[in-house]
Amino acid sequence: MKRVTSRSELSAVLAEGSGDGPRGFVPTMGALHAGHRELISRASIECGRVVVSAFVNPTQFDDATDLASYPREPEADAKLAQAAGCDVFWTPAVEDLYPDGLEADVRVTDDLTSVLCGAEEGRGPDHFAGVTTVVSRLFDAVRPDIAYFGEKDAQQLAVIRRMTTDQQLPIEIRGIPTVRDPDGLALSSRNLRLDARSREQALAIPRALREASEMAMSGERSTDSLTRHVRHLLIENGIEPEYVEARDPDDLAPVAEMNGRPVLLAVAATVGEVRLIDNVILEGRS
Ligand code: AMP
Repeated sequence: MKRVTSRSELSAVLAEGSGDGPRGFVPTMGALHAGHRELISRASIECGRVVVSAFVNPTQFDDATDLASYPREPEADAKLAQAAGCDVFWTPAVEDLYPDGLEADVRVTDDLTSVLCGAEEGRGPDHFAGVTTVVSRLFDAVRPDIAYFGEKDAQQLAVIRRMTTDQQLPIEIRGIPTVRDPDGLALSSRNLRLDARSREQALAIPRALREASEMAMSGERSTDSLTRHVRHLLIENGIEPEYVEARDPDDLAPVAEMNGRPVLLAVAATVGEVRLIDNVILEGRS
């Protein structure tokens, strides 16, 4: 595995030859865990060469304390990435991606970015402008054929798919199912900041989503009943959710009734000091 920092080093390594098959890319913010490992392993099975980036993107944080306290572990990350099959590990500096200052200038429609995590009471619509800006710059530097994203960040996946279509990029976006701890908690770099009590409390989130999924499979058609059930279980466990919503996984439009198509049931909640998100795709009965 080669480790590179500047954009020019990356270009030089990529120009050396790409091996057989497509170039795969896994963008991350570092503090890698088994969820990231799954994305990298999938890329290494499906691609000739795999690039992984680790960059804590300042333009997607609305809170300076959150940005400052985001875990940074480049040495451990490089080891995990290499073991999972990464060929090129890129840790850009801020100036490599933002040579003209920290401005987010790539956006997709508000319909996708001002709801759920993009709502004012969440992270605000600028959050996804930060995400699309950095991913578009990372894509421009890496020029992948296939890019891998986690379904855990379902809204991000929908936003990146839209950006790729809007810009007519020749990149296939592959979503990878959420990797969970054995007790059900979705893996996240932020879990490192949960103390034992909060972690236990946080388990109510995957439990509630599982129950809702079972209700849908047993024939519950009203998404209002499903979201109310989730909300109730969370509150019962001392968690005040930021949102619990049922939406179309592609255009994120609200869905009132199970309609035979997959429905995204998404949750955000702050537990202890840590903001967590999770979701499940409801299949329902047609
Ligand atoms: P992050 O470093 O949190 O920005 O995540 C980098 C990529 O890993 C994103 O595409 C995430 O959706 C994905 N990811 C994060 N956590 C998980 C998980 N538990 N399972 C699968 N993918 C994940």
